[in-house]
Amino acid sequence: MNVDVVDAQASSFTQGDGSSNCASDVAKPADRNANKVNLLGMTRKELETYFETIGEKKFRAAQVMKWIHQLGVTDFNEMTNLAGALREKLSRVAYVAAPEVVHREYSNDGTRKWVFRVGEGAGSLVETVLIPADGRKTLCISSQVGCALDCSFCSTGKQGFQRDLLPAEIIGQLWVANQSYMEDTPVGERTRTVTNVVMMGMGEPLLNFEPVVASMQLMLDDHAYGMSKRRVTLSTSGIVPMIDKLGDVIDVALAISLHAPNDELRNELVPINKKYPLVELMAAARRYVERGAPLSDKSAQHKAIQAKMAQKAAVTLDDDQDDALEPSRKKHVTIEYVMLDGVNDQPLHAKQLIQLLNGLPSKINLIPFNPFPHAPYGRSSRNRIMAFQKALSDAGYVCTVRTTRGDDIDAACGQLVGQVADRTRRAEKWKQKIVEHQNANTSKLDSTAYSTSGQRREILRTRGS
Ligand code: SF4
Repeated sequence: MNVDVVDAQASSFTQGDGSSNCASDVAKPADRNANKVNLLGMTRKELETYFETIGEKKFRAAQVMKWIHQLGVTDFNEMTNLAGALREKLSRVAYVAAPEVVHREYSNDGTRKWVFRVGEGAGSLVETVLIPADGRKTLCISSQVGCALDCSFCSTGKQGFQRDLLPAEIIGQLWVANQSYMEDTPVGERTRTVTNVVMMGMGEPLLNFEPVVASMQLMLDDHAYGMSKRRVTLSTSGIVPMIDKLGDVIDVALAISLHAPNDELRNELVPINKKYPLVELMAAARRYVERGAPLSDKSAQHKAIQAKMAQKAAVTLDDDQDDALEPSRKKHVTIEYVMLDGVNDQPLHAKQLIQLLNGLPSKINLIPFNPFPHAPYGRSSRNRIMAFQKALSDAGYVCTVRTTRGDDIDAACGQLVGQVADRTRRAEKWKQKIVEHQNANTSKLDSTAYSTSGQRREILRTRGS
């Protein structure tokens, strides 16, 4: 593990002592850029408009975007295809800055984690995790500081909600991750490294809709990151009206953090389910899928590739060709299902899940739970997870089990807030409840026999003590 505390203020964070004091008398980049505009989070359209407002041609937007997003250049003086006068003007009125990295860790398994400060004071930290696997580098991006939805298995939810992230703070996470691979490479030889993005970090992305969509537009834009729409995934806990709205404005992959196959259990694990129950969520997922291009909608490129393959020609598909074979990622939804020991991992739950997904083109991703301090749940056993996977596979579903990565840097899913001290009143109350229970605990309840959610809660508290 390679740990790099970027500034002294962050050291208290890494020690987890909760005493981080972000006040500083050192001038921050933001201070130097007062009254200037940050270009990092602007979509192409916004940047074109901006250049027109400062008396420049629209096409400058594409040029500047390439420098910023593809080559990682933030100093206008290094943007050599811009006229000197324009470089000088931009230096006066604009700047390019990602959020401040206060801490970074590189895991032995290749996982990388960054902690960003996105404001003053405690609770203004967000995390981003890059997970390499199967030749891909997948970046898990945060959309909010904290989260209001308080899913019972999620450490982020215990922080409470602080604020929405701005577009520059969202796309800045991708910019920094790519930059981490570019640092020692001359500008002319730089390539972007992150291959996939999942909006699955801290926060509910559909509750920060416009900045998240703007950021995803940049991810897809050929002048910025040029990512395939198949490789940009938004994961939601189920904000039903916004799923429809998402389908109206952008074409990206959709994942649903389901975690329970019936309303009683989901109400408890994912409380937003009380507002948008499963019947509504599944209907929204179907509508999203149906918006995608039908299988018969083959592009000319698709047909050409198929013809080539029919001739048994050696074909190596790049992302664009891959897209042509699958014109829209919306043809299926990814179902995320965290495996909680004795809670949602029983054969009955697998059966209910199969019934629930009937008719919805979907792939299921089982996520072994990663316990965090004071977590009231445990991780399902490997045998239990395998049995659950088999039940779904036997029913005809593609069902994968997520490999747990980055444990040595608290980067695995569910540990995103890592050692961030819980400072909200809700977190304090929650911890207090656990301490009270530990003190009073005399129960010897068996972990498998339960019939009501009330009983189950009691069992889980007992197990957690
Ligand atoms: S699982 Fe997602 S939606 Fe639920 S509390 Fe955590 S960050 Fe929020």
